[in-house]
Amino acid sequence: MHTTDTPEIWFLCGSQHLYGPGPLKQVAENAQKIAATLGASPRIQGARVIYKALLTTPAEITRIMAAADAGETCAGLILWMHTFSPAKMWIRGLAALKKPLLHLHTQFHRDLPWGTIDMDYMNLHQSAHGDREAAHLHTRLRLDRKIVVGHWTEPQVHDRIDAWARAARAWHDWQGARILRLDDNMRQVAVTEGDKVAAEIRLGFTVNSHGIGDLAERIAAVPEKAADALAADCLAAYAPAPALRKNGARHASLRDAARIELGLRALLDETGAKALTDTFEVLHGLNQLPGLPIQRLMADGYGFGGEGDWKTAALVRAMKVMGRGLKGGASFMEDYTYHLDPANPLVLGAHMLEVCPTIAAPGRKPSLEIHPLGIGGKGDPVRLVFDARPGDAVNASLIDLGNHFRLVVNEVTAIKPPRPLPRLPVARALWRCRPDFRTALAAWLHAGGAHHTAFSHAVTTEMLEDFAAIAGIELALIDRDTRLGDFKTRLRLNDHYYATAQGLRN
Ligand code: MN
Repeated sequence: MHTTDTPEIWFLCGSQHLYGPGPLKQVAENAQKIAATLGASPRIQGARVIYKALLTTPAEITRIMAAADAGETCAGLILWMHTFSPAKMWIRGLAALKKPLLHLHTQFHRDLPWGTIDMDYMNLHQSAHGDREAAHLHTRLRLDRKIVVGHWTEPQVHDRIDAWARAARAWHDWQGARILRLDDNMRQVAVTEGDKVAAEIRLGFTVNSHGIGDLAERIAAVPEKAADALAADCLAAYAPAPALRKNGARHASLRDAARIELGLRALLDETGAKALTDTFEVLHGLNQLPGLPIQRLMADGYGFGGEGDWKTAALVRAMKVMGRGLKGGASFMEDYTYHLDPANPLVLGAHMLEVCPTIAAPGRKPSLEIHPLGIGGKGDPVRLVFDARPGDAVNASLIDLGNHFRLVVNEVTAIKPPRPLPRLPVARALWRCRPDFRTALAAWLHAGGAHHTAFSHAVTTEMLEDFAAIAGIELALIDRDTRLGDFKTRLRLNDHYYATAQGLRN
């Protein structure tokens, strides 16, 4: 994947000097043991948890928060108060902190030592009240942190930390990220628009446009041998239609797609972009809309949004980073067509071409095909065709409401198509919505969710919830518990809350 290394999460333990050097030494040893256990946990793959410090003075706290903010490898902080740490010591440091924060509410010893418990034990195991003092300040500072409760050896505690670490890693990846936007967004379309300045202020990535000529130039410069080699790789990697094979009637189209992919890679490398958009309306110098090339770039970890949709491109990238190493991938998606049988209503998701093969059902190679495309006025594009894997998934949309960003998420279950779709020339996913079709769709429309989404089997609601909290943006979640009336009320309240919470700084 085109990404940085796995970032660090710094484990910080709070205390004070009241207890003397002996207990503080014990506190530091215990904190190191917890951090080492989390760092070595096979359940925590999102980032590397490392022990950083025992903090007992305002100066130490302020210094380490500044170091975390400046640290390029640090994606977030885990705080834990083994003993009582008066929270006013933390104000200066936490008020300035920009990095994501997780408050681990745990205790070193799991069980009360009923027969031997004395005041020494009580004085060392104070997180029950020490963490309350800390959390009061976090709330007072309106820090949107994650709180994980339970003993530090519990698998569920590790899983909660991993979900947050994955969100923190995706957020870390967004900061300073570049998104390559070829030309503009599709004419007259509203939902793919947005305030790119607000996005950079609030979300950290920058969107820069290039003319399609910049891509056409790089495509023209691709050596013939390189195009031949990539076309051969594609024939081996997928199940090609006979016409696309080496001596087939349409092999030249596959070579064209290979040239486009190499041209896109050259431009992505030059600009250092992690995601890209294009639009079928502006393809000067290209002889087909990029289908296969975009599908392969997404499989390598690049984000993508069609028709100039840079918000979805950024979200696809973030969800690829979040889900890295987990089963199932992430893809650009569009809610395309419905099956409106009242007994079994379904959504058929697809796009003109660009669905990522990381979400394909396992067991068979995607088929490499060529078909006409009714729009764009160019040659027939080459594309991969497959069914998405069955299983639980999330469908997410990032929208700009003018005064704040909203992340709309629907929990869905992808299913195997009940019958083959032999004439559908694009990759597709078929899913059921939670809590039910009517509620989910009405909620999605009320929330203003786009037709473009990022779809993933690997990413969970919890990761997206943590991500929205880190980003300070609204999450509109449509899940098994959603009731339309409550959902609409929450949208109205959130509209007010987020406009107020971020104030004029947007
Ligand atoms: Mn579209």
